[in-house]
Amino acid sequence: MQVTIAQALQDAHCLVDHIEARLLLQYALNVDAAFLAAHSDDILNHEQLNTFQLLVMRRSAGEPVAYLVGEREFYDLTFKVTPAVLIPRPETELLVELALSRIPVNQTCKVLDLGTGSGAIALTISKHRPLAHVTAVDLSPDALSIARLNAERLGIHNVQIRAGNWLDGLDHDEFNLIISNPPYVAQGDPHLDQGDLRFEPHIALMALNDGLACIRHIIAHAPDFLAAGGGLLLEHGYDQATICRQLLAESNFINIFSCPDLAGILRVSGGQRDDRALATKAHC
Ligand code: GLN
Repeated sequence: MQVTIAQALQDAHCLVDHIEARLLLQYALNVDAAFLAAHSDDILNHEQLNTFQLLVMRRSAGEPVAYLVGEREFYDLTFKVTPAVLIPRPETELLVELALSRIPVNQTCKVLDLGTGSGAIALTISKHRPLAHVTAVDLSPDALSIARLNAERLGIHNVQIRAGNWLDGLDHDEFNLIISNPPYVAQGDPHLDQGDLRFEPHIALMALNDGLACIRHIIAHAPDFLAAGGGLLLEHGYDQATICRQLLAESNFINIFSCPDLAGILRVSGGQRDDRALATKAHC
């Protein structure tokens, strides 16, 4: 039986959604969206059809499209992703926007991304602020390989990707901006058993203490690593904005704020190092 592109897409619709079917077929045929649209009457060969049908079956069994096709768009770039890293999410673009608005275009600036994963945040910032010196840290060797591969694929050189446990081993008073999308889902949260999260690395998603262990650690230690006037920006869960602002206040941050994502959920909180407090401390 001869199956056209249009027919294959139609057959897939009972198992996966329309847009996902197109992404999977593009990947199976190694073509772009425009080709698919312009060649809907092309006949698929046996191997192409088999590859596509297998992808559709895996997707309908729950595997994330980003892992099946090995990449995901984030901001204005395309990142390689594997099950070793979290799939970059649209809400994390808010963290990037807020970071970019704090990084000068025509001046150097030292930026630190903690728990970089695929490197989506660090590399997007590096690309948009070529004068910034970005350090990207992750604990997972597999994630570091993906981040390095992404830096290479995107031709980004103003980033240093290194192994590390949060701020351990970094220099004090060094960074003008520290950003992170740390794991913040509570252990036992039912969302971990739903959708894409089932396939994502739990080390990148889940944190102890109601999902706050990593956020607490970063907020407590970040002031020592920030340069004078430096800022901290953290992505967090839908119900963690209040506690994040409270923790930032306890760590003597000033200009503390929370910002909503496109869905109206307070998603990023941050503040600035209080240099007056540090000056007082230095005099004691
Ligand atoms: N926002 C993600 C989710 O719950 C979690 C990402 C994270 O833990 N950093 O889908």
